[in-house]
Amino acid sequence: MYLKNLEISGFKSFAKKTILDFSRPITAVVGPNGSGKSNVAESFRFVLGEQSVKSMRGKRGEDLIWNGGDGEMPRANRASVKITFDNSRRLMNLDFDDVILERVVYRDSISEYLINGTVVRLKDIIELLAGAHIGSSGHHIISQGEADHILIANPRERKEMIEDALGLKIYQYKKRESERKLEKTKENIAQVESLRREITPHLKFLKKQVEKIEKTLELKAELKNLYRQYIKREFVYLVEMAERVSNEKRTPEDKLKSIESELGDVKNLLSSSPGLDQKREELLSIEGKLNSARGRREEIMISIGRLEGELGSLKRMAEKAERETQKSDDTPVPLSKIEELKQSIEKELSGAESLSGIENARLIFGRIRELVKNFIDTFKKTPTGNVEAYRSEIDALFGKQKGLEEELQKVKDEESGFYKEYGRIREQIESEKDKSRDAERRMFELMGLQKEAYAELSLLKDKESKIAILKDEMEREIREGAMLVGREILNYSNEDCPSLEGGAPITKEQIIAEPRNLQEERLRVIQKIKVRVEDAGMGGGDDVLKEYKEVSERETFLTNELSDLEKSSASLVNLIDDLDKKLEVLFKEGVVKINAQFESFFGLMFGGGKASIKVVEEVKTSKRKEEDGVEMDEILAFQQGEEEEEERPQSGIEIDVKLPRKNIKGLEMLSGGERALTSIALLFAISQVNPPPFIILDETDAALDEANSKKYGDMIVNLSKLSQLILITHNRETMSRAGALYGVTMGQDGVSRLLSVAFDEAVAVAK
Ligand code: ATP
Repeated sequence: MYLKNLEISGFKSFAKKTILDFSRPITAVVGPNGSGKSNVAESFRFVLGEQSVKSMRGKRGEDLIWNGGDGEMPRANRASVKITFDNSRRLMNLDFDDVILERVVYRDSISEYLINGTVVRLKDIIELLAGAHIGSSGHHIISQGEADHILIANPRERKEMIEDALGLKIYQYKKRESERKLEKTKENIAQVESLRREITPHLKFLKKQVEKIEKTLELKAELKNLYRQYIKREFVYLVEMAERVSNEKRTPEDKLKSIESELGDVKNLLSSSPGLDQKREELLSIEGKLNSARGRREEIMISIGRLEGELGSLKRMAEKAERETQKSDDTPVPLSKIEELKQSIEKELSGAESLSGIENARLIFGRIRELVKNFIDTFKKTPTGNVEAYRSEIDALFGKQKGLEEELQKVKDEESGFYKEYGRIREQIESEKDKSRDAERRMFELMGLQKEAYAELSLLKDKESKIAILKDEMEREIREGAMLVGREILNYSNEDCPSLEGGAPITKEQIIAEPRNLQEERLRVIQKIKVRVEDAGMGGGDDVLKEYKEVSERETFLTNELSDLEKSSASLVNLIDDLDKKLEVLFKEGVVKINAQFESFFGLMFGGGKASIKVVEEVKTSKRKEEDGVEMDEILAFQQGEEEEEERPQSGIEIDVKLPRKNIKGLEMLSGGERALTSIALLFAISQVNPPPFIILDETDAALDEANSKKYGDMIVNLSKLSQLILITHNRETMSRAGALYGVTMGQDGVSRLLSVAFDEAVAVAK
C-alpha cells in the first residue's frame, strides 16, 4: 500500500484539521448528503495539483478555503491538504521512505506546493506524480456523477485518459518538454542566425580592412629592410666622400693660405707709401740741417778770416810796440780814423742783422769790443810793458783761432755726415720705388694664383655641398621613414647591415665600390613603397585588428553556438521521434491489453456481450468547424486548442459495445445503469492494465441495482489487490467490502467532522 494518510485543514467544509488514515486496501467514506464527502475526494485532486478550480466545484481559489459557518469557527485564510505516501518501495523518485506532498492556497488564490516541507514548483509535483503513475487527468479519481465521464468524453480526451492510465504521461511530458526545448532551440537558432547575418557584412568589411592592414604591414617590413640597406650604405658613402673632399681641399687651401698671406704682405708693401713720404720728409729735414751746417761753416770761416785779420794787426801792433817801447806820449786821433771805426762797427752790425741766435749776437758783440779796443790801442802810447800784453793776446787769439778751426772741422764733419745721410735716404727712396714696382707685379701674379686656387676649391666645395644635400636628403628620408616604420631605423646608420645575399655584414669597401645607381634605385623603390604605405593610411590599425579579432571571435562563437544548437535540435528531434515511437508502441500494446480486460469486465457486468476500444485517426480543421457548425460538437471538443494546426491528423479512442441479447451498438442508446456499468468496466479494465497506487471513486456505484452492486463489489475487491481504493458511497454492498469506514458528519456550524465507524454505524450514517 502506498497511501498512508491525508490531512485536510481549512479546505472547504473541513474547517478543522482532519486526518484520514488509509491502512486498508479499501477505505469507504460514508455520510449523509452534503456532509462533505466529496470535499474529501476534491482534497485529493487539490493536493495532487489540480489546476481547474471548477473541477473542484469552485469559481476561484478562495472558494476552496473554509468560508466560515454559523458556529464558532471563523473563516480561514488558508486551506491546506497534505498527503503522505509510503515510499519505502520507491514509488516516487525520491530518496525518502515517506513522501509528503502539501498544497496550500491563500485567499489571494496563490498556491504553494511543498515536498517534504520544502517549497517546490507545481512542475516538480507533476513530474514526481507522473513518475508514480498518478496522472493529472484524474482517471484514478472519479468524481461524483462522473462515472460515465469516459463515455461522455470525446475521442481525444479518452485517449488522454488512457495514455495517462497507461503511464504514458511521463513520456508525453518528456516529449512536450523536448518539443518546447526544440522550439526554444529553433528560436535560438533563428536568433543566432540573425545575429550572424547581422555581423557578416561588418566582418567582411573588417576582414578587408585587416587584409589591407596586413598588406601595409608587409610593405612596412619590406620598407624597413630597404631602409636598412639604403641608410647604412648612404651613411658610409657620405662619410667617406666628405672625408675625401676634405682631404682634397687641404692642398688648395694651404696654397691659398700662403698666396693670401703673401698677397697681404705685398699689399702692405704697396700701401706703405707713408714710409716713402717719411723718408722724403727726412730728406727735407736733412737738407735743412745741411743748409744750416753750411751757414755755420761759412760763419766760422768768416770768423776765422777776421781772427786772422785781427792776429795780423795785433802782430803788427806788437811789433810797433816793441819798436816804440821808449816813446810814450799821446797820439792825436784823426777824425778819419774815428769815422773808420764807426763804419767798421756799422758794418759788423749790418752783417749781424741777417744772423740769428744768441751765439751770433755774442760773436758780434765780441767783434765790436775788439774793434773799439783795437782803435784805442792804436792811438794809445803803448808803454814798453805792453808788448807782453800783445803777445798774450796774440796767443789768446791763436787759441781762439784753433778753437774755431776745430769747430769748423766739426761742422764740416757734420755737413759731410748730413750729405751721407741725404745720399742714403735718396738711395732708399730710389730703391723703394723699385721695390714697389716688383710688389705690384707680384701682386698681379698672386692674384692669378689665388683665382686658380679659388676655382679649384670651389669645385671641391661644390662637391662638398652636393654631399651635404645628399646628407640632408638621407636625414629627411630617415625622419620620414621613422614616422612610417618606427624609430628603430634611426639607428640603422650605426648598425651592421646584412649583405643582400645574407651572411656577413657589408663592409665599407663593398659600399664604396658599389655603383651609385644601385643606391639611387634603392631610394626610388623606397619612395614608391612609401607612397603605397602612406596611401594605405595607418590610422586606427590596432583598433581595426582588435575589432576584427572580437567580431571574428564572436562569429566563431556564434558558429559554434549554431552548430551546438543544431546538434541539440537534431538530438531533440530524434528524442521526440523515439518518444513518439515509444508512445505509439506502448499505447497500442496498452490498448490491446485494455481491450482484453474490458471485454472480460464487460462480459462479467452484462453476462455476455462485447466491448472494445479502438484507435481512430481523424483529420479535423478549423475550416471544417465553420462549415459543419453545431453538428460537429464532439469533434469540436476534440479539436479544442488545436485549431491552429490544420490538417494535422489527430488520433482518438472510440468505444464499441454490444450488449448481450440486445442489438444495441451505440453508446447513446444505453440506459443510465448500462452506461455506468460500461464505464466502470472500462475504468476497471484500464486500472488493471497499469494499476495506479490508489483509486478514488465518488459514488460511482450510485446508479447500480442490487445485483449489479454485488458484481461491482466483486470487482472492487479484485481491483483492490492492485490499487488502494477510497470509495465514497451510500451503497451498503460497497460498504460491506471496505476494510475501514469513515463517517463524515456536518453539524449546525457547517463544519465537516470525521469519525471511524463500524459497518452498522456506517450504514446508519450513510442514510
Ligand atoms: P452528497 O452525499 O449529497 O454528495 P457530500 O457529502 O458529498 O454530499 P459535499 O458535496 O462534499 O457533500 O459537501 C458539500 C458541503 O460543503 C456543502 O454543505 C457546502 O456548503 C460545504 N462547503 C463547500 N465549500 C465550502 C467552503 N468553502 N466553506 C464552508 N463550507 C463549504
